[in-house]
Amino acid sequence: MSTIAENIAKVGARIREAAQAAGRESTSIGLLAVSKTKPAAAIREAYLAGVGHVGENYLQEALEKQQELADLPLTWHFIGPIQSNKTRAIAEHFSWVHSVDRLKIAQRLSEQRPASLPPLNICLQVNVSGEASKSGCTAEQLPALAAAVQQLPNLKLRGLMAIPEPTDDQSEQRAAFAIVQNLQQQLGLDTLSIGMSHDLEAAIAQGATWVRIGTALFGARDYS
Ligand SMILES: *Cc1c(COP(=O)(O)O)cnc(C)c1O
Repeated sequence: MSTIAENIAKVGARIREAAQAAGRESTSIGLLAVSKTKPAAAIREAYLAGVGHVGENYLQEALEKQQELADLPLTWHFIGPIQSNKTRAIAEHFSWVHSVDRLKIAQRLSEQRPASLPPLNICLQVNVSGEASKSGCTAEQLPALAAAVQQLPNLKLRGLMAIPEPTDDQSEQRAAFAIVQNLQQQLGLDTLSIGMSHDLEAAIAQGATWVRIGTALFGARDYS
């Protein structure tokens, strides 16, 4: 078993190598540590090894860990599916939301964002796998959604997020990410949240600015 610090070093090396292969600065790629199902102690360990950004999928679980880790200057990202009744707490307790896929949710996040906080950073989640995935807007819906979100006063539209269907084939990974990268470039946005433990190299080759890494940092998740 490797420690979280060792895993962070390994993932950091993968990011640097992939950046170099793509002719990119590795500093342009942020590491988002995805800690769903993992205890606050694991996030504390990651923080001590240099992680500053944490991604969580489940609101209640995230709020509990935020309380336990309130002494650390972490930046929290919400990356899971969003139900309407969760938007207030998300608007109050996170700096980023990567999983906005409809206008109603964006409107609620903007209305409920406390005036004392800076605008909430938003990525729109795009579905690039067709029927296979329920989350994410379609490429056809994206331009209108992006234009509407850009009008909301307490949100800052930063970019796009996607979770393509898992595959071990790097050229298939890159083809799916390339679709999202093209959409991002058409919209003139600076942020691309693509790439997880198994496909971060392909994501970096296609312009990722956040890679969202869980398993490679914290080990396999136990849902039993
Ligand atoms: C769980 C999760 C991740 C991390 O996946 P790994 O394969 O464990 O790295 C990234 N993004 C989202 C949206 C997730 O739900």
